[in-house]
Amino acid sequence: MRKPFVAGNWKMNTNSHSSVELVNGIVSGSSEVAGEKVHVAVIPPFVYLQCVAKALSTASIALGAQDIYYEQKGAFTGEISASMLKDIGCTYVLCGHSERRHVIGETDELVNKKVTAAIAGGLLPILCVGELIEERKASKTEEVVTRQIKKGLAGLSAEKASAVTIAYEPVWAIGTGLTATPQQAQETQALIRKLLGEIYDSELAGETRILYGGSAKANNAAELMGQEDVDGLLVGGASLQADDFVAIIQAAV
Ligand code: PEP
Repeated sequence: MRKPFVAGNWKMNTNSHSSVELVNGIVSGSSEVAGEKVHVAVIPPFVYLQCVAKALSTASIALGAQDIYYEQKGAFTGEISASMLKDIGCTYVLCGHSERRHVIGETDELVNKKVTAAIAGGLLPILCVGELIEERKASKTEEVVTRQIKKGLAGLSAEKASAVTIAYEPVWAIGTGLTATPQQAQETQALIRKLLGEIYDSELAGETRILYGGSAKANNAAELMGQEDVDGLLVGGASLQADDFVAIIQAAV
């Protein structure tokens, strides 16, 4: 059975004080359900990972990073490796978030190298996929998501791929206030699960967690997570207020 999973991507927000205040609020508000009934992760900016890790030391909430570089070490100014993230207590790492694909210009090939390096380094990647509005209007959602998943998981055995969580995040719904309807999320996420069955097998497809992301909030979280193939939520804006994020965590139970 897939336990629900709610992850908060803080993007380029918070500071050294507010990151700790935020995580403390999340820890105290979710202590009865986090870990036990729902997996929870917070994904702060790199520079606040350590202070958030310290605040999480006795909590059942995992830490994640927003990005990773695929090399292990060396002359890669500004980049962060899997072993560095592991060293400071990260469990998860986002790979191929739409803002990295469409603002920074990451390709499917680069995302695949990051997913592969994350797994090799003992991290659990959250592979983000999703179509642009023009792709949805042109009925290309399935084509785009299929390509992103096939290329993102290229070269990974079923054993390695079992470390991956998929996040379906339609780009037109991220940070826009436009949420995919529960039916739209379910339709695409069922396609993703079917695709995983074709690439690997039904066991892996049945066990892989597939999250929805895109303007998820306390007032739509339960309905989204009520869909058969929506195993949880990747939350951006609504993860920046402890009360809002805690309400989303509670909606998963
Ligand atoms: C995200 O950044 O992954 C996201 C889903 O953002 P928001 O919830 O703000 O749309």
